Amino acid sequence: CGIIGFTGRLQVADILIGGLERLEYRGYDSAGIAVRQNDATKIIKTTGKVAELRKKASETDDIEGTCGIGHTRWATHGGVTDINAHPHVAGKVTLIHNGIIENYKELSAALKDKGYTAVSETDTEVAAMLIDSLYDGDPFKALKEADQQLAGAYGFCIMFEDRPGEIYCMRNASPLVAVSTDDGAFIASDMVALLPYSKDYFVVPEEHIVVMTPDGIKLYTMDQEEVAPKMLHVDWDT
Ligand code: GLU
Repeated sequence: CGIIGFTGRLQVADILIGGLERLEYRGYDSAGIAVRQNDATKIIKTTGKVAELRKKASETDDIEGTCGIGHTRWATHGGVTDINAHPHVAGKVTLIHNGIIENYKELSAALKDKGYTAVSETDTEVAAMLIDSLYDGDPFKALKEADQQLAGAYGFCIMFEDRPGEIYCMRNASPLVAVSTDDGAFIASDMVALLPYSKDYFVVPEEHIVVMTPDGIKLYTMDQEEVAPKMLHVDWDT
């Protein structure tokens, strides 16, 4: 339902939770964040409002980190539970997802044969397992292959365990916008979440891969050719 991500030179938990609050006009039932730390990824997620997530985060010690992703969920597959809330983790992949994976049952059966066991009831976890199963250190290869295998609507933000500080995004039908500032790189499902940081942005084109690092954002085709994003400017205030 709502997506936000950041990597750069600011503490990320506040950016993620603040961004999710700005996306609150959308209907949703759960919220969660993943914060990349030195050797681990800390995940906090809960059913209910972003206020519940904020409370849970304030009770969690050490959520320091400068790279992370956040999500508000509007459940389509799997009930409204803490476990079904995003982010989802499979192997080296931590992922948030907007939309619906139509062929998750077929994919899930094939992944079971490869030794994957889901902990949630969501279509999203199947996408996380699929991308992990295709990942051998090359995110482009894994995402291109996943894009070919997935049917449905998706906006994804993905962190790979062995790629600290990096966030990969791609979308089909679900919206994603991206912003780059001196502080780092931002992504969101709606520009309203990013207006405190910039008014210059680009809409992530379908069939492309976005790579976010603390130094900025790069846009690539599925064949890993870098392309210049088409920059847009918002001139309304919040
Ligand atoms: N289909 C996913 C789920 O039910 C994502 C829903 C959303 O866009 O929030 O978890």
